[in-house]
Amino acid sequence: MAWKRDDNTGEDERKWYPKHEGRYDHRVRAELALGKPLPTHRRVHHADGSMRPTAQLVICENQSYHKLLHSRMKVVTAGGDPNRHRVCSLCLEIKEASDMTRREIAPGVQAYSGWCLVCKRRKRADYAVA
Ligand SMILES: [Zn+2]
Ligand SMILES: [Zn+2]
Repeated sequence: MAWKRDDNTGEDERKWYPKHEGRYDHRVRAELALGKPLPTHRRVHHADGSMRPTAQLVICENQSYHKLLHSRMKVVTAGGDPNRHRVCSLCLEIKEASDMTRREIAPGVQAYSGWCLVCKRRKRADYAVA
């Protein structure tokens, strides 16, 4: 779908990160620090968002935790408070978490989607016209 954006959450696994013998350097470094192999579902995050070979790494439990780190980084970069705010992936504005759309991903568990309520309303209006 044309409107679906790449939000960069998978950056650590992208192919332009340096590799040695078919393995990502950052995963090899994480394994060295751990002292054991890294299960594939674990994601390695570059704490400063850079590709520097000396960047601090964060070993994430899974990709959803990794995504959470990225959404919090996005808020901080935009000048917001990650405990209160979210950045809308459409209008790129800092919004109160309560102004974001949510959906229930499991009984009693709400996940924020990337859109604010204003953008969602606007999207709905677009569809109504089409
Ligand atoms: Zn990352
Ligand atoms: Zn928005």
